[in-house]
Amino acid sequence: MPSVVAKWGEATNPGLVRSNNEDAVFARFPVFVVADGMGGQAGGEVASGLVSGVFESLDPVRPLTLDDVRGAIVQANDAVVDAAMSTPGLAGMGTTLVGLALIEGSEGPRWLAFNIGDSRCYRFSAGVLEQVTTDHSEVQVLIDRGTITPEAAKSHPHRNVITRAIGAGHTVEPDFFLLVPEPGERFLICSDGLTVDVDDDTIRSVLQRDADPHAAAARLVALAVAGGGHDNVTVVVVDTTLQE
Ligand code: MN
Repeated sequence: MPSVVAKWGEATNPGLVRSNNEDAVFARFPVFVVADGMGGQAGGEVASGLVSGVFESLDPVRPLTLDDVRGAIVQANDAVVDAAMSTPGLAGMGTTLVGLALIEGSEGPRWLAFNIGDSRCYRFSAGVLEQVTTDHSEVQVLIDRGTITPEAAKSHPHRNVITRAIGAGHTVEPDFFLLVPEPGERFLICSDGLTVDVDDDTIRSVLQRDADPHAAAARLVALAVAGGGHDNVTVVVVDTTLQE
């Protein structure tokens, strides 16, 4: 059975509008996550940092399972809810979560993508960019109904309103996507600061041209800042190789 190895790179920037960076990132094979925090005062940074910390504490030696990832998401949600309730300045904080993990399934290794909120996972293979995750957002509901186009969603007054978040309640409802690893594929996980300021064609051409994953991540973040830097922006690029 082939084993999967990965090379990856990450980059983050507060952008040009916000004074602090409420995004958090943890990237270490076999798990990669980005969280986009929200909340007054220090809340956003605390919420996203709690979530990335839970994933950092996963045992990197033992093969991960779907239950490990599901458990980490529940643990992260509990941590954010508990901190928000016990610390007055942190009330109402929350965060998105998007992640990619290599898990051991009954039929061999699988990539597991997961999300809560509007941070995204994309897969890039043979020149084709596809969005793996579906946003949990008000504008996504309108897109699904055919009320607005994806392009119109970018300037919609409710474009920042998400319909699911970590920290929003005692239960948390992630989406999971299982993918069979393929040679030469590339994954991108990102906060919405990337997709607000960089269009899909530009993302595709960077992933096509920048072979080094760290260079690709850094270039995408730089393009988001150059495109206006309207939000904190965080990018992880993961390259897969299969070894027999
Ligand atoms: Mn954001």
